[in-house]
Amino acid sequence: MSEPYDYDLIVVGAGGAGLAAAIAAAQDGARVLLLESETEVGGSTQLSAGLLTAAGTGVQAALGVEDSPARMFQHYMDLNQWRVLPGPVRMFCEESSTIVDWVTDLGVEIPAQISHSAHMPGLSRAGVEDVWRGHVPKDQGYGLVVALDKARARLGVDLALGSRVDDVLIRDGEVAGVVVEDTEITAPSVVIASGGLAADPELVAKYFPETSVAGEALFVVAAPGSRGDHIGIAERHGLSLFGEGWGLLLVTAEFQRYHHWQSGFPPPSRIHVNTDGRRCMDEDAPYAVSPGILKDHGGWVWSVFDESARTALPEGYADWTADRISEEVAKGVVRRAETLEELAGLMEVPAENLAASVERFNEMFRNGRDEDFLRHETLAGKGAGPHLDPIGSGPFYAVRMMPAELVCTHTGLQIDAHTRVVKTDGRVVPGLFAAGEAAGGILGERYVGGGNSVAHALVLGRVAGRESARRAAEINEKQKEAADA
Ligand SMILES: Cc1cc2nc3c(=O)[nH]c(=O)nc-3n(C[C@H](O)[C@H](O)[C@H](O)COP(=O)(O)OP(=O)(O)OC[C@H]3O[C@@H](n4cnc5c(N)ncnc54)[C@H](O)[C@@H]3O)c2cc1C
Repeated sequence: MSEPYDYDLIVVGAGGAGLAAAIAAAQDGARVLLLESETEVGGSTQLSAGLLTAAGTGVQAALGVEDSPARMFQHYMDLNQWRVLPGPVRMFCEESSTIVDWVTDLGVEIPAQISHSAHMPGLSRAGVEDVWRGHVPKDQGYGLVVALDKARARLGVDLALGSRVDDVLIRDGEVAGVVVEDTEITAPSVVIASGGLAADPELVAKYFPETSVAGEALFVVAAPGSRGDHIGIAERHGLSLFGEGWGLLLVTAEFQRYHHWQSGFPPPSRIHVNTDGRRCMDEDAPYAVSPGILKDHGGWVWSVFDESARTALPEGYADWTADRISEEVAKGVVRRAETLEELAGLMEVPAENLAASVERFNEMFRNGRDEDFLRHETLAGKGAGPHLDPIGSGPFYAVRMMPAELVCTHTGLQIDAHTRVVKTDGRVVPGLFAAGEAAGGILGERYVGGGNSVAHALVLGRVAGRESARRAAEINEKQKEAADA
């Protein structure tokens, strides 16, 4: 008779995806070990706003929002130009309809109220969703992780911190466990939920080369454990990768070094112009699409504002404050000039174009209607009014805005619609599942609305946990039959 396994399931990584997988499997009766490389659980999920996209939820229904997984699927696929995997995306959208109830049953609070930002619990529309679909939990990603970790403990899931998994054990073509510092721990199923690769500069250069546009300005906000360990596992076991070249870069000023919670926010009254000095976008365009817009303008744009905008910046932030702008002027990163004409010279853009852009901007926002880029609608979505102060009081300032804040990466182990990992020959490895950023096929070039990635982690983790519990039950049944025979 074969040796019994140490566990029914081993989960690699205790972020959103790993916690969801461990909980779902334990709910179905599996004996689970959760391994985490760092000294605490949470990964990028705990640093996030916790915003999660989901369709057909009770929160939406309570607020009278009509939505369905089928609608979400169509929107998701269209926004990604059908360059993601339809089967897994269909599963993601369908399973999203129950994920909000599932996490709230576990203790996460998502009130049925309208939210105008990722800092306010409720239902939001942070990105490019066709309907309000972004669910913001109380206390954001941290609150989400604390509730999930408590559920993990209640369900008796073993957790080992400081345990970086080096490899997956595969015997006779099937999963047999993992290796942690030369120690083998056995299980018939393993869920790889080790997050993305943002914290490994070499992997970033290889799998997300667009990051090079920002040069020295590039900074990473993803958790330090995002070392891309799934890539080495793929190489060693002939697993297929999906989503190369994709990830989420937020557009930030050249001098910014922190996520906006710490960094602060640029002045509302600012205009984004391209290297021709012409206004080229909604300055508040959702982060789902703004990096793509920049790409069409050579990778970056100028943000121009005036002295009254600078002096009105609130204190207490790390980057966007009046003093910091002056410091950056002294370093030459922010350009400053007494007149717009002089500023155009420093920016090397045609002065007449910049003047015309500012004139039109001032006129449209005096009337409260941005006919060119519809920014008044974006402002309304944030709960802000449509009128902005004119850009008119010198000195004037210009700083380059670029895709420099690396949030997450999308190159993952290719999965099927059951979260099973696919090999380069197209077959699955029995017992091997992936979830979250370590999984590929669903997260595309476009970040679909607020909460794409947290929802992806939770939904896939839950599915992978359920699938592995089912597999464990089948294996245990067979072993019992063999023992009884
Ligand atoms: C500042 C910030 C804000 C964000 N806001 C949002 C948001 O509001 N909504 C949204 O949808 N997305 C957001 N994102 C992205 C989103 O948080 C992540 O993409 C998502 O949470 C990833 O979940 P995950 O479980 O795949 O990875 P993680 O949460 O990063 O978890 C992976 C875990 O695996 C561990 N690990 C890595 N390698 C190993 C190994 N070999 N062995 C054992 N453990 C290992 C890591 O330490 C980590 O704890 C944000 C990201 C950041 C950084």
